[in-house]
Amino acid sequence: MALTRPARLGDVQAALVSALAPEAVSTAGERLDAYTADTYWPAIAATAAGKPLARPDIVVQPRTEEEVAAVVAIADEHRVPVVPWGGGSGTQGGALPIRGGIVVDLRGLDEILAIDETSLTVTAQAGVNGRRLEAELNDRGLMLPHYPASVEWATVGGYIAARGSGVLSTRYGKIEDLLLSLRVATPAGGLMETVSVPRHAVGPELTQLFVGSEGTLGIITRATLQLVPVPAERRFAAVSFPSVDAGVGAIRRALQAGYRPSAVRLYDEVATQLAFAPVVGEDLSGVYTVLAFEGEPESARLEERRTLEIAREAGAEVLDPALGQRWWDRRYDFYHPPHQPELPAIWGTLDVVATYARIAAVYEALRTAVREPYADTGLQLRMHFSHWYLWGTMIYGRFVVPDGGPDALALHDRIWEDGMTAALDAGGVMNDHHGVGIKLGPYMRRQHGAALDAMRRIKAALDPNDVMNPGKMGL
Ligand SMILES: Cc1cc2nc3c(=O)[nH]c(=O)nc-3n(C[C@H](O)[C@H](O)[C@H](O)COP(=O)(O)OP(=O)(O)OC[C@H]3O[C@@H](n4cnc5c(N)ncnc54)[C@H](O)[C@@H]3O)c2cc1C
Repeated sequence: MALTRPARLGDVQAALVSALAPEAVSTAGERLDAYTADTYWPAIAATAAGKPLARPDIVVQPRTEEEVAAVVAIADEHRVPVVPWGGGSGTQGGALPIRGGIVVDLRGLDEILAIDETSLTVTAQAGVNGRRLEAELNDRGLMLPHYPASVEWATVGGYIAARGSGVLSTRYGKIEDLLLSLRVATPAGGLMETVSVPRHAVGPELTQLFVGSEGTLGIITRATLQLVPVPAERRFAAVSFPSVDAGVGAIRRALQAGYRPSAVRLYDEVATQLAFAPVVGEDLSGVYTVLAFEGEPESARLEERRTLEIAREAGAEVLDPALGQRWWDRRYDFYHPPHQPELPAIWGTLDVVATYARIAAVYEALRTAVREPYADTGLQLRMHFSHWYLWGTMIYGRFVVPDGGPDALALHDRIWEDGMTAALDAGGVMNDHHGVGIKLGPYMRRQHGAALDAMRRIKAALDPNDVMNPGKMGL
C-alpha cells in the first residue's frame, strides 16, 4: 500500500509542503487512518477487523483551487496516485486509496462563492457540505433540489463525481440535470473551466464528461448549480396498490400525462413490511406508495388530484396523507440505527435502472436471483422504486444478511455477482445514482461493451500517467 512508484515519499511530501501550507500536509498515522473506509461494506468490515483495504501515504487538505491543481501536478510529476475525498459517504469504495498515494480531502474548499438570485444559480466550491449549502439557500427562500439521504455528510463535488440523485429527483432531475458548469483540475490540462451554461452549440459538452467520473479524470474544484424557490406548498399523499405492476403502471401513466410529483416512493410488499412500516410506526402490508406534490398550491393540488385518480383507476386505495408527511419527516431515519444495520450484518444496495418496458423483468430477476436463493442466510431484500423518469424508473434493492459469519466477504461478493448478473441479463443498467467505484468495476465491460475502451482512451488523454484515482470504475 505504501508508495510503489519510483517516487520517494519524502520528495513528494516536500513538494506538497512547498505548494501548500505545511499544516495542510500530513503523514501522521491517526490522520491516515481516517481514510481507510468510506461506506463500502467490505471497507467497513476490513477496517473493523484491523486489516483495511486501503490507506493513503499522505493526506492533504488544500484551501484553494490552485492548491488542488498543484497537488494534481505534483502527483503526476512523481507518478503517485491521487484520490479525491469529499464527504466519504460513497457506498462503492470510490474514495478509497487502494494503491496508497495522496488523498486530497476537499472539505477545506468550503466557500459558497456566489448566489445569483436572478438566474437562480449557486456557485460553490467542491468541498461545501450538502446540509450547510441547503441551510444557507433556504434562508434566502431558495433550495438546491438535490436531497440525497446522505446530505449531512456529502459534498458538492461528491454529488457530481458520483452522479447522484436526491429524493425530489422525479420533479427536478438528478445532479446532472441541475449542473450548469464546473471547474476541474486534470493532470494533462491543469485547472480549466467548462462553458458557463449547459445548453449551447460551441462543441461537445465537457461539463457532463466529469459527471460520474469519480475522480478518475480530475478533481472538481467548483460547480455552478441550478436552484429553485422553496415551494409555496408541498403536499403529501399515500396510496396502497394491489401489486407492484399496477403501481408502476399508474405512476408511469401519471408522469407521461405530464404530472410531476416531486417524490414517489413505491415499496414492494417486503419493503412495505420491513422498511417502510417500522419507520412510519405502523403495522402495514401491501404495496405502499408515498407521493409529494409541490409548487404553487393550485397546480400542486391539480397534480395530486389527477395522479390519485390515475392510481385509483389502477386499483389503489387512497390512504391518510399523514402517512406521507410522516415518511417525509422521518426519511433520514432509514439510514440511522436501529434501522441501519451494523456489523456482523452484511448490507448493500442493488440500485438498478431500466425502461418501463423492462423494469418488471428486472424486478423479477432480482427477486429470483437474490431474494429466494439466499433465504437460508436470513437475507432480506427490500425493494422500492424511488426515482422516476418519463422513460423508466429505478429499483433500490436493499439487502441485509443479519450475520455474515466467517465467510461474510465471499457471501457479500456472491450476492452482488448474482444480483448484477441477473439485472444485466434482464436488460437493466446496473446503477442509477451510487456510482461504480470498486464495487461495480468488474461489471463495466458487460455494461458498456466497446464503449469502455473509448472511456479508457479519454482517461488516457486527460490522465496519461494514470495517477487519478487508479484502479476504479474498471478503467
Ligand atoms: C446513508 C447513505 C445514504 C445515501 N443516500 C444517497 C442518495 O439518496 N442519493 C445519492 O445519490 N447517493 C446517496 N448515497 C451515496 C453517497 O452519499 C453519494 O454518492 C454522494 O454523492 C457522495 O458524496 P461524497 O462527498 O461523500 O463523496 P465521496 O464518498 O467522498 O466520494 C465519492 C466519489 O467521488 C470522488 N470525488 C469526491 N469529491 C470529488 C471531487 N471534488 N472531484 C472529483 N472526484 C471527487 C471520490 O474520489 C469517489 O470516487 C448515500 C450514502 C449513504 C452512506
